This record gives sequence, structure tokens and C-alpha cells, in this order.
Amino acid sequence: MTFDIVIENGLLVDGTGAAGQSTDVGISRDRIAALGDLKAAPAAQRLDASGCIISPGFIDIHNHSDIALLTDGRAESMIRQGVTTQVTGNCGLTPAPVHDGIRTDLMRTLSGLEYGRPWPWDSFGQFLDVLRAAPKATHVAPLVGHGAIRACAMGFVDRLPTQDELESMRRLAAEAMEAGAFGMSSGLVYPPGLYCATEELVDISRVVARHGGIYASHIRGEANPVVESVREALRIAREADVPVEISHHKAAGRENWGKVRTTYALIAEAARNQDVTYDIYPYTAGSANLSQLVPPWAHAGGAEAMLARLRDPDLRPKIRNDVIHGTLDWNNFFVIDWRDIRLAYVHSERNRWMQGLSVHAAAEKRGRDPVDLALDLIVEDGNRTTMVNFVMAEADVNFLLPQPESIIGSDGWSISPGGPTGEGHPHPRSYGAFARVIRKYVREDRLLSLEQAVHKMTGKPAKKLRLDRRGELREGYFADVVVFDPATIRDRATFEEPHQFAEGVHWVIVDGHVTLNRGVLSDQLVGRVLAPAR
Ligand SMILES: [Zn+2]
Repeated sequence: MTFDIVIENGLLVDGTGAAGQSTDVGISRDRIAALGDLKAAPAAQRLDASGCIISPGFIDIHNHSDIALLTDGRAESMIRQGVTTQVTGNCGLTPAPVHDGIRTDLMRTLSGLEYGRPWPWDSFGQFLDVLRAAPKATHVAPLVGHGAIRACAMGFVDRLPTQDELESMRRLAAEAMEAGAFGMSSGLVYPPGLYCATEELVDISRVVARHGGIYASHIRGEANPVVESVREALRIAREADVPVEISHHKAAGRENWGKVRTTYALIAEAARNQDVTYDIYPYTAGSANLSQLVPPWAHAGGAEAMLARLRDPDLRPKIRNDVIHGTLDWNNFFVIDWRDIRLAYVHSERNRWMQGLSVHAAAEKRGRDPVDLALDLIVEDGNRTTMVNFVMAEADVNFLLPQPESIIGSDGWSISPGGPTGEGHPHPRSYGAFARVIRKYVREDRLLSLEQAVHKMTGKPAKKLRLDRRGELREGYFADVVVFDPATIRDRATFEEPHQFAEGVHWVIVDGHVTLNRGVLSDQLVGRVLAPAR
């Protein structure tokens, strides 16, 4: 037998968490054809992995590349840190299902991630067809967003659904699952997800569960109400009998630091008889649309309605006051220190100079109050401004990341510098999350072993999503492979200079095709939209 590729002299870390072993890997077409001593086996191509780790391609379980992949399929920030599968559609907001009545508002809600390109689809299936036809470097495992489903059924209104609307949400969820979604995500801090009750999520999640999908949730509050919010996610999982993935778990805001000990205890307890995991990215800052700081009542009706309220001189003072003090039914956010909120993307040309600055610093330069500056920016940018917010304790990240229920996710998206996705001053996680876990948490801080870290990036997310023959390196499995140097792999992207690729990843193989070859990206992009195992 002649192999297409033999990777030799490396240490195989197979994705199961088992100790690494010296084994060669033989690849034929898109599969792992043999593991063992293949020194004498004929091969069209031999890769010398001396001193390197051979592992399954990394699976990014929390990713927002839905539109980024259509816009620029090279996905360089991801592929260059070893990611071969991106789980898209997180946090409740997906570009499908959609219809003309809500298209503009849904686009505005996804702003910062949608690059102003047209959306020539309505149903989730039509969106996947467009994604299938687009050349892309990595595979995609898509989730459907509860927010998009709800917006389709009843718009962005602030109320509970009628029976008919609920039925239409169940139908849209079933359609998306049948079209190829791996589950449903929710974003319970974003309109319209924030207007729903727990029962609605249980109800729709039952449909998702029947189709073998997972429920991934950006929970109702990651700041003051973080404990109740984790309880709600666990309740939905229990009552709908659906595997749950708590998204980018954290306790936001100084006053909430340490609460992850309580939430983790709840998660670990539930995990004894439920499929419960959470994902985490290795940074103490998050990132979101700047309008997250605007109270929920002002979001009712969608992005256009919110912008109109911000422009309304009668409503503006109340919004301003609520941003500072919160509202009776809204304490989801933390006490805002404008020094901790950096402007990641500023859309309007004349405000572009603020990109990379904190709101505090930009306000000082302009001689304006930071609250007014932030609200003005949201209006002037048409709700396209994004922020990086420094809200987490390092001790919390260090506590959550090594636990057995954690999975590594970036919460970022594919960025290729020089193209339309390369604009702005994004969070560095899109470039560095996976390399950073190995560099910092394995090599420097020794909080987990390399085998454990790789398991959290490969075998564990693959099992959660029931990916067909991916996430482990075994004979017969698909040949998604990363070869990296454990002594030199590192993230280079920083909050100051985010557009920098990770280092130390020598080869990335996608379905048997060498997509990254010692720093050179192949012009053949072979990533696929993966099909759920049913
Ligand atoms: Zn989120």
C-alpha cells in the first residue's frame, strides 16, 4: 500500500486524553489509513514531525464565523492555530432562518460579524446550501440560533409568544435540524432572546433533542445573576432532556468574581446524570456589540427601534440613567468602568480614530462624557460598534479551564488580514485561543497536561456534537490533523496588536489535504459543512 502522506517521527496525542505515544500516521485520501511504524512504507509525501505533536485538528466549539466564512474562506486566523472545524451559530444569533420582514434588523443585530454582504436565503437549509458552495479552509458544524427562530416567528417584540407563534418556532427549529443543524444556541442577553421565558426554551429544545441536537446557551446573565442563569440552563437541559453546552462560561464584573465556584459546583453535580459541559476561552476580556450596555427595554422592536430611541431627546436621558444605574428588572451587566471597555470596531469613518482606545480615553480626547460618547457611537455607527471588555478574574479562568467538564472554544471568528474580515481591532482570541491554551496553561502554568488540553480541543467537543469519525486519530477516521511543536507553539495576537498569527503550527491537514504547509496556506480550500450523525 502506498500512502498519500506519512507523518513520521512525531508523538501522537490522539485526542482521547490518553498519554502520547511515538507512532507514525499514514493517510490515504481523506482518511487515517494506518498508525504504527511506517518508516518503510511507501508514501507520496513524507512529513518529518521530529520533536512535534501529531494531534487531531482542533474543533472550535464556540465560534461566530457564519458570515465570515462566506466572506473570506481562507479562515487564516483559525487554520494557522490548528483549527480544522468551526462550530458556528452561537449565542442565539444566526443569519438564518430569516425573512424580508426582519432581515434588516437581524443583520443589524449581527453587525460586526456580517460584513455588509447580501443574504440570499430565507430558510436555514438555503443558508447551508450557500455555505456548502463557498470555498472554505475549515469544516463547519452549524448551530441554529433561537434568536433568529424567534425573530422569524414574532419579530423583535418584548413579550411571550402566542400558541401559534410557539408552534411556528417549533416548526422552524425542526426544519433547521432536518436541514443539518447540530443543535440550537440561545443568546439570552440579546434581543430577541432576552424576551423569552424558560418554558419557551424547554419547549423548543425538546424538538432539538428529538433530532439528536444539543442546546448551547449564552445564559441570561453572566454578571450579577450568573448563578440563577446557570440553574436555568441546567433546568432546560433536564426538562427537555437535551445535552447542554454553557457558552463561554465566566462571572463578569469585579463584584461577581469567584461565583464560578458556585456555578461549577452546580454543573459538576448535574453532570453526574446529564450531558453538561461548558466552553471557555483563555482570556480575561470578552467582546460584544457596544449596544449590550443599553438596557433591554430600549432594544424592544429591534435594532432600528433602539437607534430611534437613542436619537429621541425625550428618551435619551432615561437610557443614559439606566446605563449608569441599571433598571429594576435588569442587573445583567456589571458596574461599568469605562477604562475596561475598549472599542474594537468603529464603523463610521470620522470616528475610526477611536478604534483600540478605551471609551474613557476616547471620551477624554473628545472632551465628552463616556456614557454620551458610547451612546452617540452606537447611533453614528448604526449599531455596528463592537467592544472588548475586561470583565473577568484570571483566578476564575484558571479555576474553570482545567475542570473535566470544560471544552476550549474561541468565541471568535475567522479573520484573514488584507481581506474584508481583517478590519478593526478585534479580540485576539480569533488568532490565538488554542495556541494560547497550550503555551500558557500547559507549558508555562502547568494547569493541565498537553493530552488533557488536546482532548478539550478535539475528542471532547467531537463527542459532545457526535461528530462522525472526527476528533480522534484512529484508523478509518477522517484525516483532520495538526502537527505542532509543543516547545514553541504560542499565540502572538495581543489586545494591542491583534492581527498576528499563532506560531509553532507546522502542518494542518483537512480531510487528507495539506492546507497549511510550514506557514504556506494552500489555495485549495477543502472544508465541508459537516452532517450530523443521526
Ligand atoms: Zn455569547
